[in-house]
Amino acid sequence: MESRHRNASPAPAGKDSPRTAAGLPLDAPEAKESVTVTVRFRPLSSREVRLGEEIAWYADGDTIVRSEQNHNIAYAYDQVFGPTTTTRHVYDAAALHVVSGAMEGINGTIFAYGVTSSGKTHTMHGDQRSPGIIPLAVKDAFSIIQETPNREFLLRVSYLEIYNEVVNDLLNPSGQNLRIREDLQGTFVEGIKEEVVLSPAHALSLIAAGEEHRHVGSTNFNLLSSRSHTIFTLTIESSPCGESSEGEAVTFSQLNLIDLAGSESSRAETTGVRRKEGSYINKSLLTLGTVISKLTDGKATHVPFRDSKLTRLLQSSLSGHGHVSLICTVTPASSNSEETHNTLKFAHRAKHIEIQALQNK
Ligand code: ADP
Ligand code: MG
Repeated sequence: MESRHRNASPAPAGKDSPRTAAGLPLDAPEAKESVTVTVRFRPLSSREVRLGEEIAWYADGDTIVRSEQNHNIAYAYDQVFGPTTTTRHVYDAAALHVVSGAMEGINGTIFAYGVTSSGKTHTMHGDQRSPGIIPLAVKDAFSIIQETPNREFLLRVSYLEIYNEVVNDLLNPSGQNLRIREDLQGTFVEGIKEEVVLSPAHALSLIAAGEEHRHVGSTNFNLLSSRSHTIFTLTIESSPCGESSEGEAVTFSQLNLIDLAGSESSRAETTGVRRKEGSYINKSLLTLGTVISKLTDGKATHVPFRDSKLTRLLQSSLSGHGHVSLICTVTPASSNSEETHNTLKFAHRAKHIEIQALQNK
């Protein structure tokens, strides 16, 4: 099925305000804020242990401490998870409210941000042993449908990649260099393929096929995957069922699950191609940081959505009452200490939670 990929406008807030899967109204104090920032540490890899790497940063409650300097710095976030936390736990804390909100008509966006090999793909996609946020979200979406007999749902998926500011359709190899357009309902990618999905397995098989398309023309898949953003979008359409519901509005919402390009700085890059990739990545991640920080403020007048393809195509989902969850993945390893610091600063800028300077902690 060929159709337009649309970032739905936020559902209007009515007297029957939306509720979480647990039955809590989303505006209850127990419910999450609209922007949450989470930091997830991965364990040291066996290679890092072999190389004698030390722990440069570690989690202490919801703060993070730098252990290698006399003058320790600590950052605080909404949630911090250490190396033994499972992806299931990260999902429950940082993704479930976004997924259940999306099923109730509230746009949701989850980002994994961090340097290459910090755990973004492990967190978003995972593997058989440790499924990531995408398979867990897809499974929950279908469970919510089962548990909501008074509504009828239609789920569609699309999967795209942004490489050097070019949008490519991963579900359709001929869908290259697609345009982002805007109409009264918001921004959309022109000509992107959207597939109706009938089961979690069906949705996941489309992702697997999309990953194959990323291989085409690439001699080094890992390198390419660290240089592009991928966006998996679940579009949810629902309407009340039964005779009494005639004339009631159909609800549209989107859940965007995003594995960002590696955030490592590109200063050391020597070839022109790598430098160009790096500058596009820096620009789009910088814009993303500015956009999220303005959304956090809630009173921003000018949000620079147009400054990158990534934020432009997410504009409708991010503005309004949408949920945003930024998951920053980091490694504790001392050799990556400065890059970890950059990720923590990015996360901090996205959500201005007060920094505490801790002397000799
Ligand atoms: P990225 O996508 O950020 O480049 P990956 O997700 O591919 O990084 O992670 C790099 C390696 O570290 C992979 O082998 C992955 O399985 C492992 N890894 C990442 N995060 C964790 C974690 N939280 N627990 C265990 N292993 C992890
Ligand atoms: Mg990856």
